Amino acid sequence: MTHSFYPPQRTLMGPGPSDVSARVLGALARPTIGHLDPKFLQLMDEIKVLLQFAFQTQNALTLPISAPGSAGMEACFVNLVAPGDKVIVCQNGVFGGRMKENVERCGGTAVLVEDPWGEPVSVHKVEAAFDAHPDTAMLAFVHAETSTGVRSDVAALCALATHRGALSIVDAVTSLGGIEVSVDKWGVDAMYSGTQKCLSCVPGMSPITFSERAVERINRRQHKVQSWFLDMQLVMGYWGGASKRAYHHTAPINNLYALHEALVMLEEEGLDAAQARHLHNHRALVAGLEAMGLTMAVAPQFRLPQLNSVLIPQGVDDAALRTALLDEFDLEIGAGLGALAGKTWRIGLMGCASCERNVAYCLTALEAILQRQGAAIMTGRALNAARAVFNAQ
Ligand SMILES: *Cc1c(COP(=O)(O)O)cnc(C)c1O
Repeated sequence: MTHSFYPPQRTLMGPGPSDVSARVLGALARPTIGHLDPKFLQLMDEIKVLLQFAFQTQNALTLPISAPGSAGMEACFVNLVAPGDKVIVCQNGVFGGRMKENVERCGGTAVLVEDPWGEPVSVHKVEAAFDAHPDTAMLAFVHAETSTGVRSDVAALCALATHRGALSIVDAVTSLGGIEVSVDKWGVDAMYSGTQKCLSCVPGMSPITFSERAVERINRRQHKVQSWFLDMQLVMGYWGGASKRAYHHTAPINNLYALHEALVMLEEEGLDAAQARHLHNHRALVAGLEAMGLTMAVAPQFRLPQLNSVLIPQGVDDAALRTALLDEFDLEIGAGLGALAGKTWRIGLMGCASCERNVAYCLTALEAILQRQGAAIMTGRALNAARAVFNAQ
């Protein structure tokens, strides 16, 4: 006999998923209703409004795709990029590489603008790419690069795209709910996110939003969108405005209860307060790590409060340390990726996992294992350093 699955109770401080609150888990367990039930359609309308709030936009085409962040990425590219389109793709970590792949699969040409892992997208390099390719139709980049813990300047990059007559596609999977995301103020044309990072909801949904300019481009398409499932014209038949809604796919009903709850919690807390909390806990974590003698991997002005890249000290067994954190402390932190594999840890403080308790817990656990491994760290200081930041608030 196979038995029911009961997962261990972990503390999730990696690159996502993040801890899901009891309130959101409770919402998941509510009774399933039909995906065309009038009560469900009402819920869908509320989710659209809550997402407009989270994205800070009036965009009518704002909704959650019924699939993870990667599908939101794909939805932006397949709907906006047509064969022959030239797209400037910025790569300063893992996710820019996936954008390039998407452009090419849509039959577009990707012009790569590369920056070192651990640094933000260079606005000057993007400007030079526009100079070299004046026929560019779109600019695509990642706001919060989860693979490195770096923030790029969305306002400057989108202003540049608009000035050059191009649309912008922005990855906000890790930024939404954690740091400022202002779609309308920044002039973003297409943005996608995920539910399992700073929204602290279960994985598997991807909030997206398209500007009017982006919708016009979609409406003018000559080629059918290559993906039937992600074709926004079809998705809108289900999620759309006033018109009668038709079956497109069965929405993940209970997941949407959870997303609604997570967004209600964000609204209750307020965007500014949620961002301030992420920043506050980040400062305390950094103070603790530095008091231990560890070094952050990213320059202070580009750091993401929700994803903290730390250099692994000499002589430490990376994999053994992360295994010990998981086995002994039920604590998950992230490994470095790509160019930073084996060189960094990625400590997430996302959504409701961004709390004083998790900062203290992570510092305590990390210090214990590092000490046991004989790492050259300073012990007994980290918690006090973090506490000093908490008390200063
Ligand atoms: C996690 C992440 C994604 C992918 O989201 P999934 O839900 O795993 O598909 C895309 N971009 C960034 C920046 C991410 O952090």
